[in-house]
Amino acid sequence: MSRAVQRRAPRVPTSAIPYAVLAGSLLLTLVTAFSVATTADATEQLRFEHEVQQTQSTIEARIETYISMLRGLAGLFAADDAISRAQFRAYVEQLSLPQRYPGTQGLGFSARVAPEDLDELVASVRAQGQPDFQVWPAGPRDEYHAIVYLEPLDRRNQTAIGYDMFSEPTRRAAMELARDTGQPAASAKVTLVQEIDADKQAGFLIYMPVYRGGRTPDTLEERREQLIGFAYSPFRADDLFVGIFGTRTDPLVAFEVYDGLEPAPEHLLHRSPGFRPDVQSTLSITTTLAVAGRPWTLHYQPRVTFESSIASRMLPILVISGTLISLVLFWLIRSQVQARASAEAAIRVRDDFFSVASHELKTPLTVLLGNTQLLLRRISREQHLSERDQRVVQTIAYQSERLNRLVNALLDHSRIQSGRLVIEPAPLDLVAAVRRVVDEIRPSLRQHTLSLTAPDAPLIVNGDELRLAQVFQNLIDNAIKYSPNGGPIAVTLERRGDRAVIEVADCGLGIPADELPSLFQQFYRAGNIDPRKISGMGIGLYVIREIVTQHGGSVDVESHEGQGSTFRVILPLAGDVRP
Ligand code: ADP
Repeated sequence: MSRAVQRRAPRVPTSAIPYAVLAGSLLLTLVTAFSVATTADATEQLRFEHEVQQTQSTIEARIETYISMLRGLAGLFAADDAISRAQFRAYVEQLSLPQRYPGTQGLGFSARVAPEDLDELVASVRAQGQPDFQVWPAGPRDEYHAIVYLEPLDRRNQTAIGYDMFSEPTRRAAMELARDTGQPAASAKVTLVQEIDADKQAGFLIYMPVYRGGRTPDTLEERREQLIGFAYSPFRADDLFVGIFGTRTDPLVAFEVYDGLEPAPEHLLHRSPGFRPDVQSTLSITTTLAVAGRPWTLHYQPRVTFESSIASRMLPILVISGTLISLVLFWLIRSQVQARASAEAAIRVRDDFFSVASHELKTPLTVLLGNTQLLLRRISREQHLSERDQRVVQTIAYQSERLNRLVNALLDHSRIQSGRLVIEPAPLDLVAAVRRVVDEIRPSLRQHTLSLTAPDAPLIVNGDELRLAQVFQNLIDNAIKYSPNGGPIAVTLERRGDRAVIEVADCGLGIPADELPSLFQQFYRAGNIDPRKISGMGIGLYVIREIVTQHGGSVDVESHEGQGSTFRVILPLAGDVRP
């Protein structure tokens, strides 16, 4: 490997780059997936909590509405304890329960009766158009509580008329609580007496105590003494929740409701559609709800529709596409790295070949050149060859010289590539150096005129005479070569501050503007040149730039295609002659 290539070799092996990119992009995919998952989890959790809150508020609001209705009903009886059945029905009918408050089984009134007043109550209710009315279950008790009114009086509710709820311990506990506190009280889970069909639902009741005189008495004794009955509502739990949520076609949460604080199967009031008791979701939430003084436990879980939210569905797509993109990227970069490696290998082979070939050519060429020039000198001295033979020898000399220049160019190129092109600077008068080159070239010109404009005073630079002469010779050779129709070539030399500026201008083919930036690259030849007519290797300007740069100078070009070109070399003047 040449030194130039060694210098440019990156520290990280190029072959490792695709793997580093693969690892990096896979890592990026993972980090993105992780952050999307975390954000999705948090968003889902928030959404779910919001849904749960809404569901819970809806339940609370609806139960509050039922309790308000019960308070209203209790007020009705407190105002007038002789409400007739017709009046009661009219009152409940105007509430439009089934339409406006679906979910309650009805509104009722259960009257408290002392044993001695029982017959009178039965007689009075029967007289209001219910000839079969009786208080049940039969049997002697300290006090009776008979359901006297229950609307709407449908098939189920008819079954309940006359029922003494106080005779049943669960209901009685709630009735006593309501009576003693003066507040609405919900019962624990019961099976309503209205459950006359095989498909039974869990149920519960809410009681609102009605006291004689209307207001809630202050003391417990008074409350127990002055209780005349209960406004109450029986609820079939499934009907209640379907009534509340019936309009929502696609709820995102499912829930089950337990009476009390212990979620045991025997306390289950309701399980909403879509609830999966066997599924344990990380989002699940358990809440409690106070329903008329009684705690309920609610278990919420996301429905299937909720869990497959966009973010969670995106995740596998993200991981798969991220991995695919990483692999494609890896493949692309690896192909590029491989292509670059083979291109670099090819360039190395080419450079090595040039280097070896030009070295091998140089020795016989030098001998050939030496002998040809010897021959030329002898011919001009002795004049013993015919004119034709003289021309043959001149052609040999000319072509050998050309060959020599080509081989030199190749050698220079190979030296630049391997960092071996070094200049040996010494004080040098540029005016004299340029003049020598111009004088050397001028006699061979047929179609061109070569002028030199230079200051009288010397322009001293610290330069390598041979290398700088090579630069000027090459620029003038190009000016001649790329002005195939002849014309003037002007070489000017001037001092600008602490710099010497040498310009070589021709009126030849010029260079297309868009190619100017590439002109000093190795092996570059402009597109307006026909290589069959004007030969060249595209090495000259490359070598010129290297030599001028090594002198601390610069080279550039101005050109207009079809009008000519001006190459400008700027070199720093030697220190002792600077102003
Ligand atoms: P070569 O002359 O062997 O092609 P150079 O490196 O000297 O290589 O020049 C590179 C290219 O720059 C040339 O092929 C030519 O297209 C363009 N060029 C150089 N000098 C001139 C000029 N005086 N006029 C027009 N084009 C030029």
